[in-house]
Amino acid sequence: MLAFIMFDPLYFIVLAPAMLLAFLAEMRVRSAYAKAGRIPASSRLSGAEVARRILKQNGLHDVEIEPSHGLLSDHYDPRKRVLRLSPDVYQGRSLASVGIAAHEAGHAIQHGVHYGPLALRNGLVPLASTGSSLAMIVFVIGMFLSAMPLGRTLMVLAILMFGTVVVFQLVNLPVEFNASRRAMVALTDSGIVGVDEVPTVRRVLNAAAMTYVAATLSAMLTLLYLVLRSGLLGGRRN
Ligand SMILES: [Zn+2]
Repeated sequence: MLAFIMFDPLYFIVLAPAMLLAFLAEMRVRSAYAKAGRIPASSRLSGAEVARRILKQNGLHDVEIEPSHGLLSDHYDPRKRVLRLSPDVYQGRSLASVGIAAHEAGHAIQHGVHYGPLALRNGLVPLASTGSSLAMIVFVIGMFLSAMPLGRTLMVLAILMFGTVVVFQLVNLPVEFNASRRAMVALTDSGIVGVDEVPTVRRVLNAAAMTYVAATLSAMLTLLYLVLRSGLLGGRRN
């Protein structure tokens, strides 16, 4: 049923800028990670050790650090107060590992200081994940029934559901940028990262941030697509 949208030319036209940005972001992440991954950190600390130091500096003694499974599975779990780092980051002693570990520690600091946007983002997770999994299905059913009032109602409902995904992505942006900013401050203030290492670490974090910008643009344009395709703006449907 979703193939209906997948093969809609309008979908590709509207989403094209987001697809291009996502592709460029992916390339940048790969090249930044590859480069920084080959440069050993002068501190000789592993990602896990860097995270531990940063947490300590910020008085977060009760946050656990665990290895997680899979590439790029790094995240901070605010419910369990656990920082999970992928094997490469956890054990790695490269500038890439240091940067990513510090970024995740940045999220733990945000949680520790009750940074508003993080709480808002976490609160939006259930709503946005329901929205992203159901909106398209509801929309396609609505399209099939578009001759009836029920069809229009379902399409409006789907647009509202997907709207929660857009709101989530928009709130996520400042959270991610702020975590990276906190990471850079912690790394430089403590001297874990030297002045000559700063640009490399920053490049890794900026590249990662660009993927979030691409995800936000993609969500916004998907919403635009749904509005255009629904014909609710009064345009002719084809
Ligand atoms: Zn993050």
